[in-house]
Amino acid sequence: MRYQTFLMSWTLPALLVLAALTGCSTNPATGEQQLNWISVEKEKSLGAEAAPTFVQQYGGDIPSASIQNYVSDIGHKLAAASERPDLEWEFHAVDSAVINAFALPGGKVFVTRGLLKELKSEAQLAGVLGHEVGHVTAQHIGQQMTRAILITAAGVAVGVAGEQSDEDWLTVLGVGTSVGGGLYMLSYGRNQETQSDELGVRYMTRLGYNPVGQVQVMKVLKRASGGGGAGMEFLATHPYPDTRIKHLNMIIKDQYPDYKDPQKYRIHRDRYQRTVLAELKRLPPPQHDPENQPANPDPQGAGDQYR
Ligand SMILES: [Zn+2]
Repeated sequence: MRYQTFLMSWTLPALLVLAALTGCSTNPATGEQQLNWISVEKEKSLGAEAAPTFVQQYGGDIPSASIQNYVSDIGHKLAAASERPDLEWEFHAVDSAVINAFALPGGKVFVTRGLLKELKSEAQLAGVLGHEVGHVTAQHIGQQMTRAILITAAGVAVGVAGEQSDEDWLTVLGVGTSVGGGLYMLSYGRNQETQSDELGVRYMTRLGYNPVGQVQVMKVLKRASGGGGAGMEFLATHPYPDTRIKHLNMIIKDQYPDYKDPQKYRIHRDRYQRTVLAELKRLPPPQHDPENQPANPDPQGAGDQYR
């Protein structure tokens, strides 16, 4: 509360303008001008700090080395094909029945067991991971955090005073206060989703995956969200499936006119079936399943608030 006087003072608008000017930079993935106060170092430290809590909240890593290696391998290849290959990338398949995928700042990416189960091919998985890599490379989280800073009084103090700890930043980010659910406070905008779809297609096609896989993912998610239940979660974070499908089809036709060429773009259905789907069937039920409590009750009662 010690910032209150400061906030009400006349110097604040001037400071904000100054901060906005200094915080403007060129986005590495999109080439656009952006307002982002979160440094690369800060991105990395926040992601590294939040990731273990996040994994734990979503049932831990799926207990299968072959699935983890498979997801991690594809993820790292996508990241290496991106504009930010040097972040501390990590890819986790988490043991949660909810259907979703997430990214933390600095390159920590998560895909849930619920979503893996719905996918049919490696190209689709590459689409999901590529989309999340896109959120990271386009620095959407940093931009959303900067926006949050601008609209919250406490955040203004954090952004301007510059003496805050990682813990303060994580609070602004929402991680740690409402564990696991916090990032939803910073849900992405429509343009950011479209941008990530496009970047996902960019990275997956660089690895030779058929971009149609990305469209199929949208359809899977649309179907899942239509059924209510776990799918509702996806609606909160990844809205507008129809608009996105339309946009993706347009991009593919325009930028990848030879997408039907099987020599150039691959789907890898069999490999996905064998490595992920068959293996998932052999495993015990997911550790995290909000529809089937109390298998892993949320100790703080903070789960599932995002509908
Ligand atoms: Zn997204």
